[in-house]
Amino acid sequence: MAQGQQQKPTSIEVRGARVHNLKNIDVDVPLGELVGIAGVSGSGKSSLALGVLYAEGSRRYLEALSTYTRRRLTQASRAQVDEVLHVPAALALHQRPAVPGIRSTFGTMTELLNGLRLLFSRCASHVCPYCGARQQPTLNVAAELPITCASCGKEFHAPGAESLAFNSAGACPTCSGTGIVREVNRAALVPDESKSIDDGAVLPWGSLMWDLMKQVCGAMGVRTNVPFKELTFEERDIVFNGPAVKKHILYRPKKGDDFAELDFTYYNAVYTVENALAKAKDEQGLKRVARFLQEKPCHDCGGTRLSAAARAPEIRGINLAQATAKTLDDAVTWVKDVPEFLPADMRPMAKNICESFLDVAKRLLELGLGYLSLDRAGATLSTGERQRVQLARAVRNRTTGVLYVLDEPSIGLHPSNVDGLLGVMHDLVADGNSVVVVDHDVRVLKAADHLIEMGPVAGADGGHVIAQGTVKQVAHSSHSRIAPFLSEDGQQRIRARVTEDIFANGRIHMETSPLHTVKPLTVDIPRGRLVAITGVSGSGKTTMVLESLIPALKAAAAGEALPQHVHALQAEGIVRANLIDATPIGANVRSTVATYAGIHDELRRAFARCEEAKAAGYKAGDFSYNTGRLRCPTCDGTGSISLDVQFLPDVTIACPDCRGSRYAPEAGNIHRPVKNLKPKAGRKSAASATDVLDASHSLTMPQLMSMSVDEALAVTADMRKVHARLTTLHDLGLGYLTLGEPTPALSGGEAQRLKLASEMGRAQSDAVFVFDEPTIGLHPLDVQVLLSVFDRLVASGATVVVIEHDLDVIANADWVIDLGPGGGEAGGHIVATGTPEQIAANPASITGRYLNVL
Ligand code: ADP
Ligand code: ADP
Ligand code: ZN
Ligand code: ZN
Repeated sequence: MAQGQQQKPTSIEVRGARVHNLKNIDVDVPLGELVGIAGVSGSGKSSLALGVLYAEGSRRYLEALSTYTRRRLTQASRAQVDEVLHVPAALALHQRPAVPGIRSTFGTMTELLNGLRLLFSRCASHVCPYCGARQQPTLNVAAELPITCASCGKEFHAPGAESLAFNSAGACPTCSGTGIVREVNRAALVPDESKSIDDGAVLPWGSLMWDLMKQVCGAMGVRTNVPFKELTFEERDIVFNGPAVKKHILYRPKKGDDFAELDFTYYNAVYTVENALAKAKDEQGLKRVARFLQEKPCHDCGGTRLSAAARAPEIRGINLAQATAKTLDDAVTWVKDVPEFLPADMRPMAKNICESFLDVAKRLLELGLGYLSLDRAGATLSTGERQRVQLARAVRNRTTGVLYVLDEPSIGLHPSNVDGLLGVMHDLVADGNSVVVVDHDVRVLKAADHLIEMGPVAGADGGHVIAQGTVKQVAHSSHSRIAPFLSEDGQQRIRARVTEDIFANGRIHMETSPLHTVKPLTVDIPRGRLVAITGVSGSGKTTMVLESLIPALKAAAAGEALPQHVHALQAEGIVRANLIDATPIGANVRSTVATYAGIHDELRRAFARCEEAKAAGYKAGDFSYNTGRLRCPTCDGTGSISLDVQFLPDVTIACPDCRGSRYAPEAGNIHRPVKNLKPKAGRKSAASATDVLDASHSLTMPQLMSMSVDEALAVTADMRKVHARLTTLHDLGLGYLTLGEPTPALSGGEAQRLKLASEMGRAQSDAVFVFDEPTIGLHPLDVQVLLSVFDRLVASGATVVVIEHDLDVIANADWVIDLGPGGGEAGGHIVATGTPEQIAANPASITGRYLNVL
């Protein structure tokens, strides 16, 4: 876009934005600044940040690519907005980056490994390929000159950086650079030894081979008609390891056919699997074999992924594999001193390489990732860790003039690392970029140059800009809902504190042996309380709770053996241990709030009972939008249709015929009278529900499904069960959800609370509920709702264990167990336990430094 003589624009001008719930809004988003977007969940933050700014920014970028794409794009996926001026090319850093593949490690993802490889190729002591003698480091390597072996006098060239790459020439040939090999799992070959071979005891012969192999096995001298467990050692050896010899057998090709004679080669069970693995051509084939395999660290490279040659060069007595086994913290200390161990003439070059490594590392350390080892498999990183890696990379690329849209980057970040995050965002701005950040963390919002607050509430009644300006201006705005939180400096206790002994209801006692970097732990969790597990990332929270406590409680409840690393557990009477996670509910578009909450069935029956339905001959089943006669024929009851746009992901739009209601027009003819209409005083939504009712005070199914939970509450008083369930949803803070809303589209926090719907209002003293960072995506106001949900679970006897960084939640726990002090090797201890006040007063606790319980 040539600006000619015009003045440089100072903001992105959004005009008439109507994406999702946005109310045709006009908003100016300052360029070259850090812009925070606040608002309760569902208020329209993402719709503005991703749906308008990022969508337009990336569309502009794509448009420049080809006229073909341009035409298709403008037809199909142009954001619903009149005009967006001055939007730069945009990059979005998503809340949940994709899980990387098997070839990715923390070192490759961060590009730190490139630096180390360069260092090892240029500055290492190389080994002479002729006599095996180790050489002194020499500048020749960097100059691409041959090295003359000090021992045998022959000349050779040292491997370059490429030959040290496990994703290229440096790959271990046995595992082709993945560090793992797949071996046949003996136990999976014959899972049920009470069966005979004739009855299919040897699974791979059945699924990967011809059935005939049983007969060949018999010809090898194995009894095939007795239970497998009765076979002798020799017979078993033949089954698993027998030689590939030809056997002459008689067989009947088809029932009734004559017997044929055949020479058939014996494939033992192990070879059958190996052969199938070698021949597998597609996913399907691999899947069939996978059940017989197990993954093990590669025995050739010891899991390091590197070939012997790539592991030969050494610096300061260690090779590349040993260097990448270090945590980033340790690697940094080690790299700093590398130059001084080299001959003087090599130091300037080495310093250069080391400095660029340290430069990349600096960001990652600031973001609190120093505890990760460089060879850690990318797929085992947590969401928050992946997101921070992504962020560090963005800064490293040193772009300029780009719009970065960040979706809750504070996820998984201990308060002590928020400063690092702010530093990264400020650097992006300093480089001449614009940063728009959607976040709930008040410390992040306070650091913004400009705030835009969406609201006032979620869903249909949101989508307005309710306040904007500097932090100070928003903090003084009377319309703002975040204002009180912006001016507060500590955490309010909103739950009543426990006055009796914290262990009055008993305790869960667990003792564990070391796992990952977590040390042996002895932990006591008070029962019937709200317990927060805290600590910087990598301190061991996940290991203690998700890898130890939950599996141990589950095993104990099922009467099974405890996990290997848990050597003691006392938890009498605990029969349920549930992780309530934030993963989306239901992968299919047919699950809605109404079906998931279990009210749709009763609604269908209620509608079938009304006069108009009877007259038209409709039964309850006809009101099902999945299979019923009254479902919309255009979208088949899904409420949306997909447009197939070539080269682009499918674009989904609301069904043009039912406009998302999922019902055929005939469903609009069946009216059910509304009895006991109960508009609760002061509840705005109930009033709007009455607006929907026609003069006869009746409702149709499509009308009801388009109502929010709160609206539906007012018109369902005569349906006892429905009313009770809706009340529960309201109490969970989900009153704004629409009954017909697809559950896969709910936010993580909404899904998490909806999953609790069936747990509320029953005795829970036999249950442990575990939440892993439940405040992700929650506005401080929503956090208060969540706390009241926890409160009610605890009141019904439940033990609630919450892994959290959010200081408001921590301050409201009955008991805090703080892990650390640091991450990785520097963590893994329980450093403090006690009430929030005791933690705040404990100098050993890093978490305590940020707690300021008012
Ligand atoms: P926030 O980011 O503030 O949580 P969103 O922008 O995600 O809010 O959502 C604003 C409103 O738009 C909500 O009512 C939500 O249900 C709705 N919405 C979000 N995504 C979609 C979608 N893909 N299709 C239809 N409605 C959506
Ligand atoms: P937190 O939940 O407090 O962030 P974790 O329990 O996830 O901490 O991690 C504790 C330590 O164990 C960290 O050093 C982490 O890198 C390591 N770790 C966690 N999972 C794995 C794994 N699958 N493989 C190797 N190390 C792991
Ligand atoms: Zn290997
Ligand atoms: Zn439809």
